[in-house]
Amino acid sequence: MSDIITKLCEQRDLPDTTLRQLINTNKYDEELFQAADKVRRERYGDAVYLRGLIEFTNFCKNDCLYCGLRAENRNVSRYRLTKDEILSCCEEGYLLGYRTFVLQGGEDPYFTDERMVDIISAIRGRFSDCAITLSLGERSRESYERFYEAGANRYLLRHETADEEHYQKLHPDNMLLENRKRCLFDLKEIGYQVGSGFMVGSPYQTTDSLIADLRFLQELSPDMIGIGPFIPHHDTPFKNCEGGTVELTLRMIAILRLLFPYALIPSTTALGTIDPQGREKGLKAGANVVMPNLSPVAVRKKYEIYDDKICTGEESARCRGCLERRIELAGYRAVTDRGDVKRIHNS
Ligand code: SAH
Repeated sequence: MSDIITKLCEQRDLPDTTLRQLINTNKYDEELFQAADKVRRERYGDAVYLRGLIEFTNFCKNDCLYCGLRAENRNVSRYRLTKDEILSCCEEGYLLGYRTFVLQGGEDPYFTDERMVDIISAIRGRFSDCAITLSLGERSRESYERFYEAGANRYLLRHETADEEHYQKLHPDNMLLENRKRCLFDLKEIGYQVGSGFMVGSPYQTTDSLIADLRFLQELSPDMIGIGPFIPHHDTPFKNCEGGTVELTLRMIAILRLLFPYALIPSTTALGTIDPQGREKGLKAGANVVMPNLSPVAVRKKYEIYDDKICTGEESARCRGCLERRIELAGYRAVTDRGDVKRIHNS
Protein backbone atom coordinates (compact mmCIF):
# COMPACT_ATOMS: atom_id res chain seq x y z
CA MET A 1 0.00 0.00 0.00
CA SER A 2 1.26 3.51 -0.67
CA ASP A 3 2.52 5.44 2.33
CA ILE A 4 -0.22 7.98 2.16
CA ILE A 5 -3.02 5.38 2.45
CA THR A 6 -1.17 3.43 5.16
CA LYS A 7 -0.81 6.64 7.18
CA LEU A 8 -4.46 7.55 6.72
CA CYS A 9 -5.51 4.09 7.93
CA GLU A 10 -3.21 4.10 10.94
CA GLN A 11 -3.67 7.66 12.10
CA ARG A 12 -7.23 8.18 10.93
CA ASP A 13 -6.06 11.59 9.88
CA LEU A 14 -3.66 13.38 7.55
CA PRO A 15 -2.20 16.88 7.42
CA ASP A 16 -3.96 19.36 5.12
CA THR A 17 -1.26 19.22 2.45
CA THR A 18 -1.51 15.44 2.14
CA LEU A 19 -5.31 15.50 2.16
CA ARG A 20 -5.16 18.06 -0.64
CA GLN A 21 -3.01 15.69 -2.72
CA LEU A 22 -5.32 12.79 -2.08
CA ILE A 23 -8.45 14.75 -3.02
CA ASN A 24 -6.88 16.01 -6.24
CA THR A 25 -5.68 12.78 -7.84
CA ASN A 26 -7.29 9.55 -8.99
CA LYS A 27 -3.95 7.78 -8.56
CA TYR A 28 -4.86 6.19 -5.21
CA ASP A 29 -8.54 5.49 -5.88
CA GLU A 30 -8.41 1.69 -6.10
CA GLU A 31 -6.30 1.42 -2.95
CA LEU A 32 -8.46 3.96 -1.19
CA PHE A 33 -11.67 2.05 -1.96
CA GLN A 34 -10.15 -1.26 -0.86
CA ALA A 35 -8.89 0.22 2.40
CA ALA A 36 -12.28 1.86 3.05
CA ASP A 37 -14.11 -1.41 2.36
CA LYS A 38 -11.81 -3.25 4.75
CA VAL A 39 -12.42 -0.76 7.56
CA ARG A 40 -16.13 -0.83 6.98
CA ARG A 41 -16.22 -4.64 7.09
CA GLU A 42 -14.19 -4.69 10.30
CA ARG A 43 -16.75 -2.44 11.97
CA TYR A 44 -20.05 -3.28 10.30
CA GLY A 45 -19.43 -6.51 8.36
CA ASP A 46 -21.36 -6.67 5.10
CA ALA A 47 -24.45 -4.99 6.57
CA VAL A 48 -26.20 -2.24 4.65
CA TYR A 49 -28.85 -0.50 6.72
CA LEU A 50 -32.14 0.50 5.16
CA ARG A 51 -33.89 3.72 6.14
CA GLY A 52 -37.41 4.40 4.92
CA LEU A 53 -37.53 7.97 3.64
CA ILE A 54 -40.80 9.91 3.87
CA GLU A 55 -40.71 13.25 2.07
CA PHE A 56 -43.62 14.78 3.96
CA THR A 57 -43.66 18.37 2.66
CA ASN A 58 -42.08 20.22 -0.23
CA PHE A 59 -43.07 23.67 1.04
CA CYS A 60 -40.00 25.65 2.04
CA LYS A 61 -39.47 29.17 3.33
CA ASN A 62 -35.80 29.19 2.38
CA ASP A 63 -34.11 30.17 -0.85
CA CYS A 64 -31.00 27.99 -0.98
CA LEU A 65 -29.61 28.72 -4.42
CA TYR A 66 -28.98 25.07 -5.31
CA CYS A 67 -32.32 23.55 -4.30
CA GLY A 68 -35.30 23.00 -6.59
CA LEU A 69 -37.72 23.40 -3.67
CA ARG A 70 -36.58 26.96 -2.87
CA ALA A 71 -39.38 29.37 -1.99
CA GLU A 72 -38.83 31.49 -5.08
CA ASN A 73 -39.45 28.59 -7.42
CA ARG A 74 -43.08 29.14 -8.45
CA ASN A 75 -43.09 26.12 -10.77
CA VAL A 76 -43.21 23.58 -7.96
CA SER A 77 -46.54 21.98 -7.25
CA ARG A 78 -46.49 22.09 -3.46
CA TYR A 79 -47.84 19.34 -1.20
CA ARG A 80 -47.99 18.31 2.43
CA LEU A 81 -48.79 14.84 3.75
CA THR A 82 -51.38 14.59 6.53
CA LYS A 83 -50.59 12.86 9.79
CA ASP A 84 -52.61 9.86 8.60
CA GLU A 85 -50.73 9.71 5.31
CA ILE A 86 -47.42 9.83 7.16
CA LEU A 87 -48.57 7.03 9.47
CA SER A 88 -49.65 4.94 6.47
CA CYS A 89 -46.19 5.33 4.96
CA CYS A 90 -44.68 4.10 8.25
CA GLU A 91 -47.11 1.19 8.30
CA GLU A 92 -46.11 0.20 4.78
CA GLY A 93 -42.44 0.59 5.66
CA TYR A 94 -42.83 -1.46 8.81
CA LEU A 95 -44.33 -4.33 6.84
CA LEU A 96 -41.41 -4.13 4.41
CA GLY A 97 -39.08 -4.55 7.39
CA TYR A 98 -37.84 -1.01 7.90
CA ARG A 99 -37.06 -0.06 11.47
CA THR A 100 -35.98 3.52 10.79
CA PHE A 101 -38.27 6.19 9.40
CA VAL A 102 -36.77 9.41 8.12
CA LEU A 103 -39.16 12.35 7.98
CA GLN A 104 -37.63 14.82 5.57
CA GLY A 105 -39.04 18.06 4.30
CA GLY A 106 -38.50 21.67 3.40
CA GLU A 107 -38.64 24.26 6.17
CA ASP A 108 -42.41 24.46 6.24
CA PRO A 109 -43.93 26.82 8.85
CA TYR A 110 -47.20 24.87 8.70
CA PHE A 111 -45.46 22.13 10.68
CA THR A 112 -45.36 23.99 13.98
CA ASP A 113 -43.84 22.37 17.05
CA GLU A 114 -47.32 21.27 18.14
CA ARG A 115 -48.07 19.56 14.83
CA MET A 116 -44.64 17.88 14.71
CA VAL A 117 -44.92 16.68 18.32
CA ASP A 118 -48.33 15.22 17.52
CA ILE A 119 -46.94 13.34 14.50
CA ILE A 120 -43.77 12.15 16.25
CA SER A 121 -45.73 10.92 19.31
CA ALA A 122 -48.14 9.02 17.08
CA ILE A 123 -45.28 7.25 15.26
CA ARG A 124 -43.53 6.54 18.54
CA GLY A 125 -46.75 5.10 20.02
CA ARG A 126 -47.34 2.73 17.13
CA PHE A 127 -43.80 1.69 16.26
CA SER A 128 -41.99 1.43 19.57
CA ASP A 129 -39.11 -0.62 18.13
CA CYS A 130 -38.27 1.88 15.37
CA ALA A 131 -35.88 4.79 15.20
CA ILE A 132 -37.41 8.11 14.17
CA THR A 133 -35.09 10.38 12.22
CA LEU A 134 -36.00 13.98 11.46
CA SER A 135 -34.60 16.14 8.66
CA LEU A 136 -36.50 19.41 8.65
CA GLY A 137 -33.79 21.99 8.76
CA GLU A 138 -32.97 24.69 11.27
CA ARG A 139 -35.21 25.12 14.33
CA SER A 140 -34.75 26.50 17.83
CA ARG A 141 -33.11 24.43 20.54
CA GLU A 142 -36.42 24.33 22.32
CA SER A 143 -38.16 22.79 19.28
CA TYR A 144 -35.45 20.15 18.97
CA GLU A 145 -35.93 19.36 22.68
CA ARG A 146 -39.67 18.96 22.26
CA PHE A 147 -39.25 16.64 19.27
CA TYR A 148 -36.74 14.56 21.23
CA GLU A 149 -39.07 14.26 24.20
CA ALA A 150 -41.86 13.21 21.84
CA GLY A 151 -39.73 10.29 20.68
CA ALA A 152 -37.42 11.38 17.86
CA ASN A 153 -33.96 9.78 18.05
CA ARG A 154 -31.91 11.07 15.17
CA TYR A 155 -31.55 14.26 13.14
CA LEU A 156 -30.03 14.87 9.73
CA LEU A 157 -28.83 18.38 8.93
CA ARG A 158 -26.05 18.73 6.40
CA HIS A 159 -23.80 21.70 7.10
CA GLU A 160 -23.51 21.96 3.24
CA THR A 161 -20.08 23.64 3.39
CA ALA A 162 -17.91 24.62 6.34
CA ASP A 163 -16.26 27.43 4.42
CA GLU A 164 -17.91 30.71 5.46
CA GLU A 165 -17.49 32.51 2.13
CA HIS A 166 -18.63 29.47 0.20
CA TYR A 167 -21.68 29.13 2.45
CA GLN A 168 -22.76 32.68 1.60
CA LYS A 169 -22.49 31.95 -2.12
CA LEU A 170 -24.84 28.98 -1.78
CA HIS A 171 -27.39 30.66 0.47
CA PRO A 172 -29.28 33.95 0.77
CA ASP A 173 -28.03 36.53 3.28
CA ASN A 174 -30.50 35.51 5.97
CA MET A 175 -28.96 32.05 6.26
CA LEU A 176 -25.80 31.70 8.32
CA LEU A 177 -23.30 28.89 8.69
CA GLU A 178 -23.01 29.88 12.34
CA ASN A 179 -26.67 29.09 12.96
CA ARG A 180 -26.44 25.78 11.16
CA LYS A 181 -23.50 24.81 13.35
CA ARG A 182 -25.37 25.97 16.44
CA CYS A 183 -28.24 23.64 15.46
CA LEU A 184 -25.88 20.69 15.04
CA PHE A 185 -24.21 21.15 18.43
CA ASP A 186 -27.59 21.69 20.13
CA LEU A 187 -28.92 18.48 18.60
CA LYS A 188 -25.92 16.58 19.84
CA GLU A 189 -26.16 17.96 23.36
CA ILE A 190 -29.84 17.10 23.54
CA GLY A 191 -28.94 13.47 22.83
CA TYR A 192 -29.85 12.94 19.19
CA GLN A 193 -27.70 10.77 16.95
CA VAL A 194 -26.68 13.49 14.54
CA GLY A 195 -25.96 13.40 10.84
CA SER A 196 -24.26 16.12 8.85
CA GLY A 197 -22.56 16.35 5.47
CA PHE A 198 -22.09 18.31 2.29
CA MET A 199 -22.60 18.33 -1.45
CA VAL A 200 -19.65 17.37 -3.65
CA GLY A 201 -18.95 19.71 -6.55
CA SER A 202 -21.32 22.49 -5.53
CA PRO A 203 -20.67 25.79 -7.35
CA TYR A 204 -17.56 27.63 -6.08
CA GLN A 205 -16.37 24.63 -4.05
CA THR A 206 -12.58 24.34 -3.81
CA THR A 207 -10.29 21.66 -2.43
CA ASP A 208 -9.78 23.89 0.58
CA SER A 209 -13.50 24.06 1.25
CA LEU A 210 -13.61 20.25 1.14
CA ILE A 211 -10.80 20.14 3.66
CA ALA A 212 -12.73 22.60 5.83
CA ASP A 213 -15.68 20.19 5.61
CA LEU A 214 -13.56 17.30 6.86
CA ARG A 215 -12.13 19.40 9.69
CA PHE A 216 -15.58 20.58 10.74
CA LEU A 217 -16.82 16.98 10.78
CA GLN A 218 -13.87 16.03 12.98
CA GLU A 219 -14.93 18.74 15.41
CA LEU A 220 -18.59 17.69 15.38
CA SER A 221 -17.92 13.94 15.32
CA PRO A 222 -21.36 13.10 13.89
CA ASP A 223 -22.84 9.59 13.92
CA MET A 224 -23.98 9.87 10.30
CA ILE A 225 -22.34 11.60 7.35
CA GLY A 226 -24.29 12.15 4.15
CA ILE A 227 -22.65 13.38 0.99
CA GLY A 228 -23.75 13.36 -2.62
CA PRO A 229 -22.92 15.12 -5.86
CA PHE A 230 -24.44 18.53 -6.50
CA ILE A 231 -26.89 18.20 -9.42
CA PRO A 232 -28.20 21.38 -11.08
CA HIS A 233 -31.94 22.03 -11.02
CA HIS A 234 -33.41 23.81 -14.03
CA ASP A 235 -35.43 26.34 -11.98
CA THR A 236 -32.61 27.62 -9.77
CA PRO A 237 -29.90 30.28 -10.17
CA PHE A 238 -27.39 27.41 -10.50
CA LYS A 239 -29.17 25.82 -13.47
CA ASN A 240 -26.19 26.30 -15.78
CA CYS A 241 -23.52 25.26 -13.28
CA GLU A 242 -21.64 22.02 -13.61
CA GLY A 243 -22.61 19.13 -11.37
CA GLY A 244 -20.37 17.14 -9.04
CA THR A 245 -18.69 13.99 -10.39
CA VAL A 246 -19.05 10.34 -9.45
CA GLU A 247 -15.30 10.06 -9.19
CA LEU A 248 -14.84 12.80 -6.59
CA THR A 249 -17.92 11.73 -4.63
CA LEU A 250 -16.59 8.16 -4.32
CA ARG A 251 -13.16 9.40 -3.32
CA MET A 252 -14.70 11.58 -0.59
CA ILE A 253 -16.84 8.66 0.68
CA ALA A 254 -13.71 6.52 1.01
CA ILE A 255 -11.78 9.27 2.78
CA LEU A 256 -14.71 9.77 5.18
CA ARG A 257 -14.82 6.04 5.96
CA LEU A 258 -11.12 6.09 6.84
CA LEU A 259 -11.40 9.26 8.95
CA PHE A 260 -14.62 8.08 10.66
CA PRO A 261 -14.58 4.25 10.81
CA TYR A 262 -17.68 4.20 13.01
CA ALA A 263 -19.86 6.41 10.85
CA LEU A 264 -23.12 5.54 9.14
CA ILE A 265 -22.60 6.77 5.60
CA PRO A 266 -25.40 6.59 3.01
CA SER A 267 -24.90 5.82 -0.63
CA THR A 268 -27.25 8.54 -1.80
CA THR A 269 -30.00 8.82 -4.39
CA ALA A 270 -28.07 11.74 -5.91
CA LEU A 271 -25.14 9.40 -6.58
CA GLY A 272 -27.53 6.89 -8.14
CA THR A 273 -28.97 9.67 -10.28
CA ILE A 274 -25.73 10.66 -12.01
CA ASP A 275 -24.61 7.04 -12.54
CA PRO A 276 -26.91 4.00 -12.83
CA GLN A 277 -24.40 2.01 -10.77
CA GLY A 278 -23.66 4.95 -8.47
CA ARG A 279 -25.14 3.55 -5.29
CA GLU A 280 -23.37 0.20 -5.73
CA LYS A 281 -20.11 2.04 -6.29
CA GLY A 282 -20.77 4.12 -3.17
CA LEU A 283 -21.19 0.96 -1.09
CA LYS A 284 -17.94 -0.44 -2.44
CA ALA A 285 -16.19 2.82 -1.54
CA GLY A 286 -17.22 2.57 2.12
CA ALA A 287 -20.90 3.59 2.42
CA ASN A 288 -23.15 1.37 4.55
CA VAL A 289 -26.65 2.87 4.41
CA VAL A 290 -29.32 3.27 1.71
CA MET A 291 -32.51 5.25 2.03
CA PRO A 292 -35.33 3.77 -0.05
CA ASN A 293 -38.24 6.09 -0.75
CA LEU A 294 -41.46 5.46 1.19
CA SER A 295 -43.32 8.57 0.06
CA PRO A 296 -46.64 8.01 -1.73
CA VAL A 297 -45.95 7.59 -5.45
CA ALA A 298 -48.40 10.43 -6.23
CA VAL A 299 -46.11 13.05 -4.63
CA ARG A 300 -42.68 11.67 -5.40
CA LYS A 301 -42.01 13.67 -8.54
CA LYS A 302 -42.89 16.83 -6.65
CA TYR A 303 -39.99 16.44 -4.25
CA GLU A 304 -37.55 17.44 -6.92
CA ILE A 305 -34.56 19.01 -5.18
CA TYR A 306 -32.47 18.39 -8.33
CA ASP A 307 -33.21 17.34 -11.93
CA ASP A 308 -33.94 13.75 -13.00
CA LYS A 309 -34.10 12.32 -9.48
CA ILE A 310 -34.44 8.52 -9.64
CA CYS A 311 -36.89 6.19 -7.86
CA THR A 312 -39.87 8.51 -8.30
CA GLY A 313 -42.09 6.03 -10.15
CA GLU A 314 -41.77 2.85 -8.13
CA GLU A 315 -44.06 1.63 -5.40
CA SER A 316 -42.31 1.22 -2.06
CA ALA A 317 -42.39 -2.57 -2.19
CA ARG A 318 -40.74 -2.65 -5.61
CA CYS A 319 -38.20 -0.10 -4.44
CA ARG A 320 -37.36 -2.40 -1.54
CA GLY A 321 -36.86 -5.43 -3.80
CA CYS A 322 -34.79 -3.52 -6.33
CA LEU A 323 -32.48 -2.11 -3.68
CA GLU A 324 -32.03 -5.42 -1.93
CA ARG A 325 -30.94 -7.04 -5.21
CA ARG A 326 -28.55 -4.19 -5.94
CA ILE A 327 -27.01 -4.46 -2.46
CA GLU A 328 -26.52 -8.21 -2.86
CA LEU A 329 -25.04 -7.93 -6.33
CA ALA A 330 -22.56 -5.41 -4.95
CA GLY A 331 -21.47 -8.02 -2.36
CA TYR A 332 -23.32 -6.83 0.74
CA ARG A 333 -26.42 -7.73 2.75
CA ALA A 334 -29.52 -5.61 3.33
CA VAL A 335 -30.28 -5.43 7.04
CA THR A 336 -33.59 -4.33 8.51
CA ASP A 337 -32.79 -3.65 12.16
CA ARG A 338 -32.50 -0.15 13.62
CA GLY A 339 -28.81 -0.04 12.73
CA ASP A 340 -27.58 2.26 15.46
CA VAL A 341 -24.07 3.67 15.28
CA LYS A 342 -21.20 1.43 16.48
CA ARG A 343 -18.66 3.54 18.28
CA ILE A 344 -15.67 2.24 20.21
CA HIS A 345 -14.41 4.74 22.81
CA ASN A 346 -16.09 7.52 20.87
CA SER A 347 -14.28 6.82 17.62
N1 SAH B 1 -34.75 21.11 4.44
C1 SAH B 1 -33.97 20.02 4.95
C2 SAH B 1 -33.79 18.91 3.92
C3 SAH B 1 -33.06 19.34 2.69
S1 SAH B 1 -32.99 18.20 1.35
C4 SAH B 1 -32.64 20.54 5.44
O1 SAH B 1 -32.39 21.74 5.32
O2 SAH B 1 -31.87 19.79 5.97
C5 SAH B 1 -31.58 17.26 1.80
C6 SAH B 1 -30.27 17.61 1.15
O3 SAH B 1 -30.35 17.61 -0.26
C7 SAH B 1 -29.72 18.99 1.45
O4 SAH B 1 -29.13 19.05 2.71
C8 SAH B 1 -28.72 19.20 0.31
O5 SAH B 1 -27.40 18.86 0.71
C9 SAH B 1 -29.20 18.25 -0.76
N2 SAH B 1 -29.52 18.98 -2.01
C10 SAH B 1 -30.31 20.06 -2.16
N3 SAH B 1 -30.28 20.50 -3.43
C11 SAH B 1 -29.43 19.69 -4.11
C12 SAH B 1 -28.95 19.63 -5.45
N4 SAH B 1 -29.35 20.52 -6.36
N5 SAH B 1 -28.09 18.64 -5.79
C13 SAH B 1 -27.70 17.74 -4.88
N6 SAH B 1 -28.10 17.75 -3.59
C14 SAH B 1 -28.95 18.71 -3.20
